[in-house]
Amino acid sequence: MQGLLLYGRIANAQAEFRLKNSGTTKSAAPKIIPRAAHNVSRDEFSKSALKVLYRLHKSGYQAFLVGGCVRDAMLVLHPKDFDVATNATPDEVRALFSNCRLIGRRFRLAHVRFGREIIEVATFRAAANHSDDDHAHDDEGRIVRDNVYGSIDEDVWRRDFTCNSLYYNIADFSVWDYTGGVEHIEQRHIVLIGDPDKRLREDPVRMLRAVRFAAKLDFTIDETVVKAIAQDRPLLANVPAARLFDEFLKMFQSGFAERTFDLLREHGLFGMLFPATDEQLNKDESFVEFVRAALRNTDRRVKSDHSVTPMFLIGVFLWGPTRKLAAVHRSEQKMSESQSLSLASYELSGQQQKRIAIPRRFTAPMREMLALQPRFMQMRGKKAMKLLEHRRFRAAYDFMVLLAEVGQFDSETAKFWTEVQGHSAEERATSFQIDAQPSSQRRRRRRRRPKPANSS
Ligand code: ATP
Ligand code: MG
Repeated sequence: MQGLLLYGRIANAQAEFRLKNSGTTKSAAPKIIPRAAHNVSRDEFSKSALKVLYRLHKSGYQAFLVGGCVRDAMLVLHPKDFDVATNATPDEVRALFSNCRLIGRRFRLAHVRFGREIIEVATFRAAANHSDDDHAHDDEGRIVRDNVYGSIDEDVWRRDFTCNSLYYNIADFSVWDYTGGVEHIEQRHIVLIGDPDKRLREDPVRMLRAVRFAAKLDFTIDETVVKAIAQDRPLLANVPAARLFDEFLKMFQSGFAERTFDLLREHGLFGMLFPATDEQLNKDESFVEFVRAALRNTDRRVKSDHSVTPMFLIGVFLWGPTRKLAAVHRSEQKMSESQSLSLASYELSGQQQKRIAIPRRFTAPMREMLALQPRFMQMRGKKAMKLLEHRRFRAAYDFMVLLAEVGQFDSETAKFWTEVQGHSAEERATSFQIDAQPSSQRRRRRRRRPKPANSS
């Protein structure tokens, strides 16, 4: 990266910059880095984003790209989503674009749509931490109000990290840096804007964002942020479970899950999200190994554009505590291994949902996937063969193969299930050692067995 960011050269080229609507809050002027002195190329931006910027600019408004897309362009990471910041109000934006929809009630944003791509256009917002406004925070310092339009030099201070606070000006292709973001990107450091403790109290999710960006960008979390996290991590308990589910998806389905997991544990954050899993991880190194193998596998899938589902990873996370609780259930009452796994995973996913709002459409199949695991040990007879047709076979099979990969399931048995999938119907009958039995005999035999009381 050295030489790409020619920041030193322009250190003295501070702009004489005054904003028309400049408020009374922070007054620091930005460093304006001209096009010749930075490496942010328009080639990194989508045509649609550029169209939005040009039209706003031509209509007399300020128009900037901001946040992750500028950061990623500077790191040549090919940004995929684009946030535009402007001094045009949402209504003014809508008047310029027929393909525009306003969303959000409290703070309105414009979504400009081009096919499947959506460019988000936000009007500059003032920071919520005006000293003359004590109603913007709750008792713990969390932001409860953040809905005042402002100017760019107010907008910048409400952003989380310095690397996320750079603005790319379409008027002259310069980059505006109020916070030292360019320098921190060069140093590969995650630094919070302002007082770290205060910023984490305002929004505890920023702790997870720090880890997520450190993992994705291969940055170091600045010591000041590390200290504040150590102090403020219990505040994650106050974050709504629905928001944590969104964050969970971003952390574990963006291709950097394994590193994110390691960092979350390193900073004592994983236990705030998955308490039962964390407890088991701390006791059982083989469970850590299994989880990391699953995350590595997920990262590989994401990078090669294969689909991933949260139900699989949630099953992986709950596997350790589920197995343990299932064993307790079996020692206390008579149940099959599958039944005990199903019951234990039901109880644990219920507990887990209090922290992270995992929709039922993921927890229900996840339980089936775990409860099917003992059935892979059965390789003889019709019931064993039927497993191939189970609607959760594929997920349960992938799960079992992963266990086998880390030596936690018999590899010969795993091989049998891999091979048998490629067999014809006749070959399968042989593999499962099914002898040709008249169907009438089979039906009679089945009736003789009473149904267990708790089967559904
Ligand atoms: P990525 O898209 O790679 O996840 P991003 O930086 O674009 O990264 P977004 O969640 O898309 O992240 O947010 C866009 C921008 O909005 C951020 O760069 C940051 O400036 C600001 N932002 C988002 N979430 C917060 C937050 N919780 N607190 C303060 N600022 C935030
Ligand atoms: Mg983004």
